Amino acid sequence: MGEFLYYPRKDQHNNGMLHIVKDTQPSLRVRCVPVDTPLSEENQALIDEMLEYLLLSQDENYRKKHPQCREGVGLAAPQVGHNVRMIVISYETGDEKNPRVQYQLANPRIIRSSVKKCYIPGGEGCLSVDGVHNGRVYRDYKIVVEAYEAKLRSNVTITAKGYDAIVLQHEIDHLNGILFYDHIDPKDPNKDIPGAVAV
Ligand SMILES: [Zn+2]
Repeated sequence: MGEFLYYPRKDQHNNGMLHIVKDTQPSLRVRCVPVDTPLSEENQALIDEMLEYLLLSQDENYRKKHPQCREGVGLAAPQVGHNVRMIVISYETGDEKNPRVQYQLANPRIIRSSVKKCYIPGGEGCLSVDGVHNGRVYRDYKIVVEAYEAKLRSNVTITAKGYDAIVLQHEIDHLNGILFYDHIDPKDPNKDIPGAVAV
């Protein structure tokens, strides 16, 4: 790995907050390496810190005090300067029975995906992307993911559809150096795929 792939975990000018790598950095465009499981102490600390950052990003008061912090629902290790295959996801669902989706995944891989596509009508966002990229990001509507869950400390199989599947695909893409706007057709950004569902 080239030296440019590695960034300090903490931004010293930023009160010790995780530093978010932006899409201007080539390190966001590489294929990340798998981690050993169970996780090393260092990787467990990193994935815990990633979740902590994500949860803080959802706290309005925290964002007021740290205007550079944007709200997110997912974060991948390369976005905080570590090119390893780890992601965290957390968001409220609005469903009383299952109020929050939250994962801390190592080595996630999509083992099955539907032919049916879906997209978010307002487009996708990313903590690493400040520029505006309008257009449809089509994703597989339903996927099955295998991963090591760092909180449960065991291997898991996740079946996800719609928004849940979109977030997983967005974060797993980061581990392969892919950003959401790579999926937008430059010739026809709002092209319609018959049968695709808006979620
Ligand atoms: Zn992203």
